[in-house]
Amino acid sequence: MIHPENDPQYKGLAVNQGVDQPPVINPYLRERKRRNIYTSTEYVEGILKGNISILSQAVTLVESQKVEHLQLAQEIIEKCLPYTGKSIRVGITGVPGAGKSTSIDAFGMYLIKECRKKLAVLAIDPSSERSKGSILGDKTRMEELSREQDAFIRPSPSAGSLGGVARKTRETIILCEAAGFDTVFVETVGVGQSETAVHSMVDFFLLIQLAGTGDELQGIKRGIMEMADGIVVNKADGNNIEKAKLAASQFRNALHLFPMAQSGWSPEVLTYSGYYKTGIKEIWDMVFEYIDFVKNNGYFQYKRNDQSKYWMYESINEYLKSNFYNDPVIEDELKIKEQLVLNSRISSFAAAKEMIELWNGRKK
Ligand code: GDP
Repeated sequence: MIHPENDPQYKGLAVNQGVDQPPVINPYLRERKRRNIYTSTEYVEGILKGNISILSQAVTLVESQKVEHLQLAQEIIEKCLPYTGKSIRVGITGVPGAGKSTSIDAFGMYLIKECRKKLAVLAIDPSSERSKGSILGDKTRMEELSREQDAFIRPSPSAGSLGGVARKTRETIILCEAAGFDTVFVETVGVGQSETAVHSMVDFFLLIQLAGTGDELQGIKRGIMEMADGIVVNKADGNNIEKAKLAASQFRNALHLFPMAQSGWSPEVLTYSGYYKTGIKEIWDMVFEYIDFVKNNGYFQYKRNDQSKYWMYESINEYLKSNFYNDPVIEDELKIKEQLVLNSRISSFAAAKEMIELWNGRKK
């Protein structure tokens, strides 16, 4: 049928024939749509080839809260497992301001340029959920490193409990190793429980300290010092050098009071400047010496096995807890029980027992 405006009788402007449109105007849009619809095998192929974009997408799946994503993520992790385990995993902690980002930038550049390593930098920051902005989340904190092809920097997963966040980071380590990263840093703020989680997924635990703040323990709990395989005093530059050396000798003395570590390794204390990049080589010589030492005495493998066992129980605990607390009937009943306990109408123990009984009934 002829368009009325194209009728020869029509006095107005004619309608021209339109230009043929390609089926897709923006070819990238199609790419974008394809996101998350890879099969687990396609993800794994991409990861094994070292494709950073696919690796990032797989990490996003690991971090996702959606059930279908988690299932896919688990499949990917399972398939990646045979290709993992060969990296050196280093935990890095220190109070805010200790110089973690500056140091990681310097350490990373040293490892990439001088040691020909490929480095993944991950983080565990349990505060990020509360503050809605992770302290350890900003890539630009590591300016030089973030421009390197051989570095993969990923901020802390933000959602959920510390256990949940830590488990996701541990799973991300697996994906990074499969993608060819032979060195993995896991960074955390040295003020809470997160060090224990980091300690349970790394081979070497490095504690960054500062000099000259009076209290040399600087809010770092003794337990954290006890976990450290190496303590490094940062900002040993300018007129701070002597103070840093003094702090180092105080740390050495403090370490003597701790019992011998299970690894048989005596933690070393070094000074350096992350900003001026001095003393960096010595730190990594120490880490590599430690790795040789524990590989020779069998502790390296022993610790990794122990960590696997730990994470099995952690995962079970997480699973049970989230199933329980996310059950709608349990959620409602918990509110009621909470009030009864607050009003002393029922004891905490009786309330807990009734909740568990209700839960057991729910599962039948
Ligand atoms: P983070 O909070 O532990 O990540 O610490 P940052 O890396 O952000 O560093 C905190 C502050 O200390 C920044 O102003 C840095 O420039 C400074 N800083 C870090 N490393 C050094 C160092 O080696 N020497 C000196 N003088 N300052 C440093």
